[in-house]
Amino acid sequence: MNALLYTLPVIAYFVINKNKSKIVQGDAASFKTWDKYTNQRITNLHPSIRTDVYRAIQELQRKGINVRIASGYRSFKEQNEIFAKVPKVTKAQGGQSYHNYGLAVDVYEIKSGKLYEGNRKEIAAVFKKFGFDWGGDWPTFKDYPHFQKTVKGGWRELLKKQKAGKLKNGYVII
Ligand SMILES: [Zn+2]
Repeated sequence: MNALLYTLPVIAYFVINKNKSKIVQGDAASFKTWDKYTNQRITNLHPSIRTDVYRAIQELQRKGINVRIASGYRSFKEQNEIFAKVPKVTKAQGGQSYHNYGLAVDVYEIKSGKLYEGNRKEIAAVFKKFGFDWGGDWPTFKDYPHFQKTVKGGWRELLKKQKAGKLKNGYVII
């Protein structure tokens, strides 16, 4: 009887969470950049971009440019919290940002422990080489730290798939 009492909540927990989009992280030990925060943040990204983000950061590192991922994957809830901020910092609500699918990173160069803006173009060139689109190229709202792997149909398509449960390890199948 006791065993059953302990077992039932566990079973209930797994049944309830089975269909939730709980993401399965990568292993931070496989991403060794100069920066532990960056290593950790790579593990949350969509599996299809982890290696390219890692390689881009490594290549920059070899050029003497140390970038940190300030923001990578964000849950819908976290996105809505940012959306609600005054003054406005984003136009995207939960589900409307590539970050919500782990397909975007915001990166900043750190030089002598401080933010450095001087190498934006070099950083963009390396990320573009690995197939990322740069927020600095957007015609209206320029988002210089932002890089994403653009998908056909954009966030609407990603959201549709998320809602339909087209997921693997919690990430939308692309
Ligand atoms: Zn961004």
